[in-house]
Amino acid sequence: MNDKDARLRSLPSVDALLAQPPIQTLIETYSRDLVLEAIRATLDSTRQAILRSQSTDLSGDALVARVESHLRQLLRPSLIPVINGTGVIIHTNLGRAVLSAEAQAAVSAAAQAYNNLEFDLDSGRRGSRLTHAGKLLRELTGAEDALVVNNNASALILILSALAKECEVVISRGQLVEIGGGFRIPAIMREGGARLVEVGTTNRTRLADFAEAINDETAMLLRAHASNFKQLGFVEQPPLDELATLARDCDVLAVDDLGSGTLIDTAPFGLDHEPMIQESVAAGVDLVCFSGDKLLGGPQAGIIVGRAEAVARLKRHPLARALRVDKLTYAALLATLAHYRRGEAIERVPVWRMIAQPLADIRARAEAWATQTGGAVLPAQSAVGGGSLPGSALPTAVLAIKHDAPDRLSAQLRQGQPPVVARIADGRVLIDPRTVLPEQDADLLRALKSAL
Ligand SMILES: *Cc1c(COP(=O)(O)O)cnc(C)c1O
Repeated sequence: MNDKDARLRSLPSVDALLAQPPIQTLIETYSRDLVLEAIRATLDSTRQAILRSQSTDLSGDALVARVESHLRQLLRPSLIPVINGTGVIIHTNLGRAVLSAEAQAAVSAAAQAYNNLEFDLDSGRRGSRLTHAGKLLRELTGAEDALVVNNNASALILILSALAKECEVVISRGQLVEIGGGFRIPAIMREGGARLVEVGTTNRTRLADFAEAINDETAMLLRAHASNFKQLGFVEQPPLDELATLARDCDVLAVDDLGSGTLIDTAPFGLDHEPMIQESVAAGVDLVCFSGDKLLGGPQAGIIVGRAEAVARLKRHPLARALRVDKLTYAALLATLAHYRRGEAIERVPVWRMIAQPLADIRARAEAWATQTGGAVLPAQSAVGGGSLPGSALPTAVLAIKHDAPDRLSAQLRQGQPPVVARIADGRVLIDPRTVLPEQDADLLRALKSAL
């Protein structure tokens, strides 16, 4: 009989393992079904290891330890923190904006106790959750009223369903964009029950094109910010204030989907000027919508600001109830907006802190890492991401690790605890300090050393 057969035969049965006292303790802590699953997985993987002629400890203690480790794996939550080494600040696949310390604390406080979400403490009567963000959003944007829904996609669907159902919505051919993940403006229009009327051409649309398209069936002129691509050269779009004036003169609505939307000018940071929420409100459009977790740097949300009358119609629509956000979102959003109100957003909101980070500080961090892990420090570019500011990049310095199999190193880093997500370029694994939170430095270095 060969050695493999003997080793396979020496493996205990499921029942024999179950009978072991340490396993009995595990059953008391977890459950019999879960422990059984872990035992089967352990015996399976051990059998595979024997068949591959790997040296494997088959002692009772070693098997019990492996059952425990399988149990931990089975119980590990699937949503876990990761280290973002990509340099993409608003990384949609990695959860977009990281919340400020104050927003994190607000979420925690809202989760720990009851609160006045829909309760008016002055009158002792039922209140509205909509009042909470309204005041801050009015002050910050200059709009008459505001409404918060689940995300910007649902904000658009609500706007179209409530204000343009079975009517025509006029939009420039240059703005029939796909935002990502198959989310396309024409599909949203259909979903909202509106009829799409395209005007102009891919590169040029004039005010007259909009004016000619308006008729008795028209409900709305829509501008969608082409947030994730850039048109250069012979291009033209009418200024937003002229579009708003035309809409008012013709008794239809003007709506601006800003996509990211920002309260702070991006230009002083060496980026293109991203259209600002205050600018759209000042241009006189009826409604402006934008995301909570892109350049605003807060929780996932769709924020709508604009004229009181138009917002009131949205609030009355049944979809507003279906798309409403919960107390945790309000808590995070209010704390984030408070940073803007206090004029401290660039220091406090992580998205802005990352954008504003001086290159010298970033390079110093990359160099400090390199002294511990080896590798070089190279100039590179970080991106704002989240479908905002296409073609606009921030100069950065990255830790660059040359490796025979960069894909394998990067896969190994993704399997770490916590996982590290890196970029690969020219046979090197790149890690950009801009998006690695300062408190993650120790974890990152441990992950790199163990992977190398
Ligand atoms: C990102 C984006 C959206 C979708 O926003 P979500 O908050 O992700 O739903 C809609 N319109 C534009 C122009 C965008 O850039």
